[in-house]
Amino acid sequence: LYRRVVMGDLIKESLKSITDMTTRERWIFAPLIVMTLLLGVYPALVIDIISPSVANLLGGYETALADYAADRGVVLCVEPINRFETSFMNTADQLLELLERVDHPACKATLDTFHMNIEEKSLGDAIRAIGPRLGHFHACENDRGAPGRGHVPWDEVAGALRDINYDGPIVIESFSDKIEAIAAAAAIWRPLAPTQDALAQDGLAFMQKTFL
Ligand code: MN
Repeated sequence: LYRRVVMGDLIKESLKSITDMTTRERWIFAPLIVMTLLLGVYPALVIDIISPSVANLLGGYETALADYAADRGVVLCVEPINRFETSFMNTADQLLELLERVDHPACKATLDTFHMNIEEKSLGDAIRAIGPRLGHFHACENDRGAPGRGHVPWDEVAGALRDINYDGPIVIESFSDKIEAIAAAAAIWRPLAPTQDALAQDGLAFMQKTFL
């Protein structure tokens, strides 16, 4: 049935002998298919029910991780990711809720302008909301190319980092289209600069001008 529906008529001799689904199997699969389609269109039906317990679970998990990190002199910096990569945490406000629940000096924030450009109403306000909890910063252009070559409002970003007296690392996070697994995960389908070195040099020069 599946082969016929997806691939069309069975032409290959060797496939013609495959037995079709039994009535019992059809009854088992029907609700699964209905549920898959339903939740594909209305994921909130399940997400609304499970999200409080997921948040609790993660809060406890982050606390345990922060303890582990603190013992080793490491600070854990949690990063909100855009909606196309996760449904769990997309904004600085959501992260702040988690950081306040965990309330641990070894659990701080990473903000990334690539994700913020998609999710935040104001990049400056998001940075100021996180304030002293900011521990790491990803300076990424809206297309993940060299900072300064796209439309991220860098003056607003730099101003907000100054407002909160941020003195931690500011890092370019970009990806090569040459490493297929990472390129696919980060949806990098074309080169973002002539070379990766050019991206780094160009981005660094811009950042020194903008952030120092
Ligand atoms: Mn990032």
